[in-house]
Amino acid sequence: MRKVTLIPGDGVGPEIAKAVQSIFAAAKAPVAWDICQAGQAGIDQAGEPLPEATLASIRANGLAFKGPLTTQIGKGYRSINVTLRQTFDLYCNLRPVKSLAGIGSRYEGVDLVIFRENTEDLYAGVEHKVGADAAESIKIITRKASLRIAEAAFTYAVKHSRKKVTAVHKANIMKLSDGLFLECAREVAARYPQITYEEVIVDNMCMQLVIRPQSYDVLLAPNLYGDIISDLCAGLAGGLGVVPGANIGTECAIFEAVHGTAPDIAGKNIVNPVAMLLSGLMLLEHIGETAIAGRIRAVVERVIAEGKTVTPDIGGTASTVEMTEAIIKLL
Ligand code: ATP
Ligand code: MG
Repeated sequence: MRKVTLIPGDGVGPEIAKAVQSIFAAAKAPVAWDICQAGQAGIDQAGEPLPEATLASIRANGLAFKGPLTTQIGKGYRSINVTLRQTFDLYCNLRPVKSLAGIGSRYEGVDLVIFRENTEDLYAGVEHKVGADAAESIKIITRKASLRIAEAAFTYAVKHSRKKVTAVHKANIMKLSDGLFLECAREVAARYPQITYEEVIVDNMCMQLVIRPQSYDVLLAPNLYGDIISDLCAGLAGGLGVVPGANIGTECAIFEAVHGTAPDIAGKNIVNPVAMLLSGLMLLEHIGETAIAGRIRAVVERVIAEGKTVTPDIGGTASTVEMTEAIIKLL
């Protein structure tokens, strides 16, 4: 049994966390949940959005599975997601985007994996006002962070028999910062001659992804472009309800659905559990339980392809619990 910190989270979080817990139990996934709170649930239970007990659990287990969290705006709290990333140095944001048969999206055969640098770029939070009528945000790109995200992308490509890594940039304009990012990507690419390496400017990348997303394989990007193309790619494959993600560091990894707390549908038993479930399967793969992950994945794909017991966001009429039960029955 592998101990994993489970943070059900806010909004729809508890509903999708429960769905995954029961599916994992039915599949006999060797995971023991250590249930902790954060976000609004953390404030309610322990008086703070990121209680020390939760951090200690993640630190001890090195693995967390997390629902979406509410960050109270204007109450002096930093974003919990950002705090987690910084605390555990989760430098790699990994998002696989794969077409699922039966989902009425515009594209078929999309199979992309995005590696987004997660610690710097314009997200370092270094900004200031310049007088009353101007402001500056500083874009920070370092060799260390660029090399390790490139290394993560190429290592993954080799391990998962991927063929190509595409670096996304705007080095024609930001010659120094994006130029350094590319220099690092090239340095790593040279060590992996079996993987094709190419570079695409971010604006062109957006157009290419919309025209023929099937031409791309692994995408490697600094933080800002990675953020934007990640959501663009989620839209190519059926939207927020079906896209998983992970934030990975050297000592710790946190798996989570990419969507937010979806307060508009919370508590209504209609949230799609698939994004959270696929994130859970990434966790299983991460700990080497690929057979169980593959078995669950095949069942989920079948339930979605049949389309009889799916949630409203992907065209069905089933509730979260009904969809979960349909998956469990097939398992
Ligand atoms: P937050 O402020 O936490 O980001 P949000 O309101 O932006 O919350 P998102 O989760 O980002 O909510 O969702 C945007 C829209 O997509 C909402 O209308 C939401 O209901 C829908 N949505 C998100 N995730 C799912 C899901 N898993 N199943 C069904 N609909 C979803
Ligand atoms: Mg949102």
